[in-house]
Amino acid sequence: MKTVGLLGGMSWESTQTYYQLINQGIKHQLGGLHSGKIILYSVDFAEIEALQHSGDWLQAAKRLSDAAMGVQAAGADFLMICTNTMHKVFDQVQESIDIPMLHIADATGERLTAMGIDKVGLLGTAFTMEQDFYKSRLTNKFAIDVVIPDKNQRDLVHNVIYQELCQGIINHDSKQQYLRIIEDLAKHGAQAVILGCTEIGLLIQQDDCNTPLIDTTDVHANAAITAMLTP
Ligand code: GLU
Repeated sequence: MKTVGLLGGMSWESTQTYYQLINQGIKHQLGGLHSGKIILYSVDFAEIEALQHSGDWLQAAKRLSDAAMGVQAAGADFLMICTNTMHKVFDQVQESIDIPMLHIADATGERLTAMGIDKVGLLGTAFTMEQDFYKSRLTNKFAIDVVIPDKNQRDLVHNVIYQELCQGIINHDSKQQYLRIIEDLAKHGAQAVILGCTEIGLLIQQDDCNTPLIDTTDVHANAAITAMLTP
C-alpha cells in the first residue's frame, strides 16, 4: 500500500471525515485489521483563514509548501490538499515537492464525466465559486460547464462555511437555505451540484434532495484509496 500525505486542518471538521473515509475504504478493500497508511499535517486554520481573507495567497502558498515538504520528508508517496479553496495554490505547492499531488477538481471531474454530466452547479467558498482556479479546471480539462449561485446566495454559502461548518455548527435554517440554492441551480440547468467545500457534506447529504450531489470530500478520499492501492 502507498502512503498518502494529507494537508489538513482546513478545517479539521472535514479532515476527520477524510481520515475516516480513507480508513473505511482501505478496510473495505483489504478486510480484517487493514487501515490506511496516512501522514497528516494539520495546520492552525485561523492562520490560513487570515491569509485567505487578506488576499495574501503568496504567504498561504508558502505555508502549505513548507508543510508539504515535511510530509514528503516523512515518507508520503503522494499528497492531497484537503480543501477545495486552497487548490488556488496547488501549482506552487506541487512545485515545492517531488511526489505527485492529487487535485480535488480532477477527482470531481472524473466522477462527473463517469456520470455523463456536462453542466454542473458549484457550491463552495466565495474564492472557489467566484475565482477561476477551480471552475477552469473543470471546463478546460473535462469540458464541464459550471453554474454558480447569485451574489446574495454566494455570500450566504460562504458565511455558513466559515461561521458555522468550519466551527462544527450544523444549523437547520442554513440547511434549508442551501437546499433552496441547490434547487435554483438545478432550475438554471445544473444536472448535478458539486459540494465544492469539504465541510458541506456535514450539512447536506444526497437523501436531502433529488438533484445529484457530488461531495468533494468523498470523491477526493476515494481517489486517494484507489491511488494507495495501485502498485
Ligand atoms: N474546506 C473548505 C473548502 O473545501 C473551506 C475552508 C478553506 O477555506 O480551506 O474549500
